[in-house]
Amino acid sequence: MKALIIGGGIAGPAMAMALRKAGIDSVVYEAHPTGAYGAGATMGLSTNGLAALRVLDAHRAVAAAGFSCPRGVMWLGNGRRLGEDVPTPLPDGTTAVQLLRADLYAALHEQATARGVPTEYGRRLVRIDHRGDQVVAHFADGGEATGDVLIGADGMRSTTRRFVAPDGPHPRYCGIVGTNGFARDLDLGDLGDLGLDDECGTFHMVFGRRAFFGYVRREDGQVWWFVNIPSSREPTPAELAAIPAERWRHRLHELLAVDTSPAARIVQASPPGHDWFVSHQMRAPKTWHRGRAVLIGDAAHVTSPSSGQGAAMAVEDAVELARCLRNLPPDQAFPAYQRLREGRLRKVHAGARQVNRSKSATGLSRVLRDAMFPVLMKRLGGPQALSWLYDHRIDFDDKVTTGTG
Ligand SMILES: Cc1cc2nc3c(=O)[nH]c(=O)nc-3n(C[C@H](O)[C@H](O)[C@H](O)COP(=O)(O)OP(=O)(O)OC[C@H]3O[C@@H](n4cnc5c(N)ncnc54)[C@H](O)[C@@H]3O)c2cc1C
Repeated sequence: MKALIIGGGIAGPAMAMALRKAGIDSVVYEAHPTGAYGAGATMGLSTNGLAALRVLDAHRAVAAAGFSCPRGVMWLGNGRRLGEDVPTPLPDGTTAVQLLRADLYAALHEQATARGVPTEYGRRLVRIDHRGDQVVAHFADGGEATGDVLIGADGMRSTTRRFVAPDGPHPRYCGIVGTNGFARDLDLGDLGDLGLDDECGTFHMVFGRRAFFGYVRREDGQVWWFVNIPSSREPTPAELAAIPAERWRHRLHELLAVDTSPAARIVQASPPGHDWFVSHQMRAPKTWHRGRAVLIGDAAHVTSPSSGQGAAMAVEDAVELARCLRNLPPDQAFPAYQRLREGRLRKVHAGARQVNRSKSATGLSRVLRDAMFPVLMKRLGGPQALSWLYDHRIDFDDKVTTGTG
């Protein structure tokens, strides 16, 4: 069997490695002329995502591209500590990591290339059709490729999805605009009296009065941070780009200085001028496959950045789909894969929607949030609350049958 993988972001190379483990050849077709781009954006990769990469023996290389973040602590903007999360590390001690998105892309590509996976850059899919049992990918450069299956790993604006689910859902704006940055030479030690310790690798999340702020300090003292700002209207990229960096910095100070947290100081200590992003989410289409084509990662289901799970879900998808294609013909493998994945994805999406509501609360709903949050966290936020998410492990050797899922 030969697989055509469309998109060489995160899901694409993970898919190619998982197929290789299942004994299936593939080629990755990536629209961009190179593999790594968007160098400034940071992200977290949680233990379940790393566990899926462990199946491919790629988790150590990926973890080494970032730095360890074993613990997350949540706060209200008034300085009240809500609770903490310490996901179980992998058996070899690997914990969740923070890394640059571009470094994650590069590490996955290196791993895929080391396993002999070919990637063709500058190949943008424009159309898909079938010839008998074969699927044909047509590219913007006029070329085409033929395979037994086509796997759409082409992200949030997927071309493959337009073919698989032409009437399916579209990514929807979640009411949040964000940016991130890096601060140096910042002493957070004197904030101990606020209960905000500056232990390296502890990811602090502050549900502030006017904005949400996340930050973590690395061993070398650099502080990585991001901010989420509620905005009822979705701004266009051109509108965001037109606002001068110094005005944004001033605006961030106004939003963050009202909280009992180091957020405003961290932003002040960072060079201005990072990219802005707009959060989207999209539920999966009713059917994730059509003919010999199937969707994985953001092409199948856009998971809002608030879940911290988009990349992890993309890798889990890849490993599960490879298991299914190893054991079943495509017409049975695709539905089995969807059955294995859709319930988990629904749960992740529901969680992200809840977090987005909390992050974008303003006025009275923000007051209610601050009153209810501590109670809810006490009731629902025990140490095992998210074990269904972080402790998820895929048994690659387990045989998939038509009844699986
Ligand atoms: C600001 C931000 C923060 C995030 N933070 C986190 C986080 O902390 N943790 C987490 O797990 N996730 C996070 N995510 C989500 C995560 O980045 C995505 O879910 C993940 O990148 C999905 O991987 P993917 O391979 O499906 O899609 P992508 O990474 O988007 O890759 C798709 C690839 O397909 C290529 N492509 C597109 N169209 C075509 C075409 N027609 N032909 C060929 N190639 C094509 C693209 O160039 C791209 O390389 C965040 C996302 C954003 C925007």
